[in-house]
Amino acid sequence: MADYDYDVLVIGAGPGGYVAAIRAAQLGLKTACAEGRETLGGTCLNVGCIPSKALLHASEYFEAAKEGGSMAKMGIKVTPELDLPTMQGQRIDAVKGLTGGIEFLFKKNKIDWLKGYAQFKDAHSVEVAGKTVTAKNIVIATGSSVTPLPGVEIDNAGGVVVDSTGALELASVPKKMVVIGGGVIGLELGSVWRRLGAEVTVVEFLDQLLPGMDGEVRREAGKIFKKQGMALKLGTKVTGVSVEGKTAKVTVEPAAGGDAEVIEADVVLVSIGRRPNTEGLGLDKIGLELNQRGQIETDHDFATKVDGVWAIGDVIPGPMLAHKAEDEGIAVAENIAGMTGIVNHDVIPGVVYTQPEFAGVGLTEEAAKERGGVKVGKFPMLANSRAKTNHEPDGFVKVIADAETDRVLGVWCIASVAGTMIAQAAQAMEFGATSEDIAYTCHAHPTHSEAIKEAAMAVTGKPIHI
Ligand code: FAD
Ligand code: NAD
Repeated sequence: MADYDYDVLVIGAGPGGYVAAIRAAQLGLKTACAEGRETLGGTCLNVGCIPSKALLHASEYFEAAKEGGSMAKMGIKVTPELDLPTMQGQRIDAVKGLTGGIEFLFKKNKIDWLKGYAQFKDAHSVEVAGKTVTAKNIVIATGSSVTPLPGVEIDNAGGVVVDSTGALELASVPKKMVVIGGGVIGLELGSVWRRLGAEVTVVEFLDQLLPGMDGEVRREAGKIFKKQGMALKLGTKVTGVSVEGKTAKVTVEPAAGGDAEVIEADVVLVSIGRRPNTEGLGLDKIGLELNQRGQIETDHDFATKVDGVWAIGDVIPGPMLAHKAEDEGIAVAENIAGMTGIVNHDVIPGVVYTQPEFAGVGLTEEAAKERGGVKVGKFPMLANSRAKTNHEPDGFVKVIADAETDRVLGVWCIASVAGTMIAQAAQAMEFGATSEDIAYTCHAHPTHSEAIKEAAMAVTGKPIHI
């Protein structure tokens, strides 16, 4: 290996990149990771998963304490007072603690952090902060950034038209907030500010929220968010946003065409998706082309068409999720080390961390039906003893199984702890479970997870508690 500075050089220290670097180092490979951000952890730890959950969690408490909220229902009467600087402070602390933790893990595993943005010179060398570094293997894990809306300028510092990063950092609660895009970011961050007092309007181009999720789950999401007080403008497109001082005017019209309407807001969140980060990487220098969606294509081992160059995470096809990136990070390091690193892309859970949470793994009912006969079992959370006792009536679990083999093809949950519940479904599917396997697995009582067992029992028409 004397020819190269490193066995492995990872570009980007998000959940894909930092995990790949740690696993490579664990396997005895001399490893470096280039990261241009001031702190490690990528989008997820700095401006994504972690800070959004810090605010979601805190704002849930605030809402629970409000008049008529879930605390009052349990006999605890308080009048909450919002201390936004402290709430924001604990978000910043959470990020600081976790990003610092990755720095510690890099040191522990003797991974060199090359501070700066890397650009390819050739397939085995990159330039970082004016220095050329060589490696036998280079892993591209540069992640993604917000997709801009043509004609709408995002100005996080101005605090009026913002992306998710700006929406996490608002210094005061907006009176009126317009969210463009009823996907995961829009609903999570829209929920945060609605709970803290904002009037939130979600403008979604499609006729339902949460594209990619099961149809019934999407319809139920619409009902639940409406009930919570969000105004939903489905099947509606934004045709322009103008800003005058601290007020934005958002012009919308029906997606199918029709009369325009102007909605005023003091904050507009643009959350219409994310696109891969490939600009400035110098991919032309190594002859690596992008697909039509601007992503880097790889084979099953995460190798690109260029020998010695690999890619993982948001920059390659598949759901843009931290845990998918992490698993790919482990797999790519193992493949580089000559082991067999595999990710089963058919079993990647997805969770929307609103209240209730929306979670799913595997096929939607619509996709499963396209492939053949299915049996579906459903169980409402209203009939689950724990959810009922906790005053959490919304939601259901749905188990979709192959009509002939009974193998579980997909599981969907709407429940206060759906994100935790979905792990058992993913594990069952990874082991090739049938709905009967789940139905005959003893689940602790009283738990929300019993709803998964009951939905599995419902596949054969035999749930007990309904
Ligand atoms: P990233 O995390 O984007 O990291 C890439 C890193 O590469 C960045 O730090 C960037 O600075 C660096 N980089 C880019 N180019 C270069 C270069 N040339 N040289 C050096 N460094 C470079 N996912 C979930 O699973 N759960 C959630 O709850 C969740 N919440 C989210 C909330 C928000 C608001 C957002 C925006 C995203 C959220 N996501 C969530 C998605 C998740 O953050 C991403 O899927 C995940 O971070 C992707 O990991 P990655 O390693 O591919 O890329
Ligand atoms: P998204 O793809 O989830 O949702 C974008 C929404 O915007 C879609 O519903 C789309 O139909 C709509 N849209 C697109 N163009 C529009 C337009 N012009 N007008 C109105 N609506 C429009 O994207 P996102 O919410 O920006 O999130 C980006 C990525 O980040 C997602 O892929 C997601 O996986 C990831 N993320 C995950 C989590 C989580 O796992 N909990 C949280 C946040 C973000």
